[in-house]
Amino acid sequence: MRVHVKVLELRTSERFQVVDITREVERVVEESGVKNGVCVIHAPHATAAIVLNEHEQGLIRDILGKLRELFPPDAEWLHNRIDDNAHAHVASAFIGSTRVLPVVNYRLVRGTWQNVFFVEMDGPRSRREVVVEVLGE
Ligand code: ZN
Repeated sequence: MRVHVKVLELRTSERFQVVDITREVERVVEESGVKNGVCVIHAPHATAAIVLNEHEQGLIRDILGKLRELFPPDAEWLHNRIDDNAHAHVASAFIGSTRVLPVVNYRLVRGTWQNVFFVEMDGPRSRREVVVEVLGE
């Protein structure tokens, strides 16, 4: 079995922000030489998430608006007695920080309207990572 790992590094500039990493992830799949297998996309962070969806500016604003509404930073979170980012931890716990996609015939299998997004919820951060691991044959 072939295993190819790459760590993508990114920087965020807003508290809540969506960063499209589709091209970078597809590049890792191409480099891997894996014909058939899976691609694991993992953000090793407790206050961020990985989602798949359409890269359309209105929709991205809808997603960010809903995040603020469902996980308001200024709510009375218990974790905020020791930190100031409970909303981001809770959102990350519900959304998830890992996605697994099939790789078929050297290509990442995703829908036309499924881009890969890193979702920042506790930015800005000078350094965030996304681990992309491609496994297969
Ligand atoms: Zn915290």
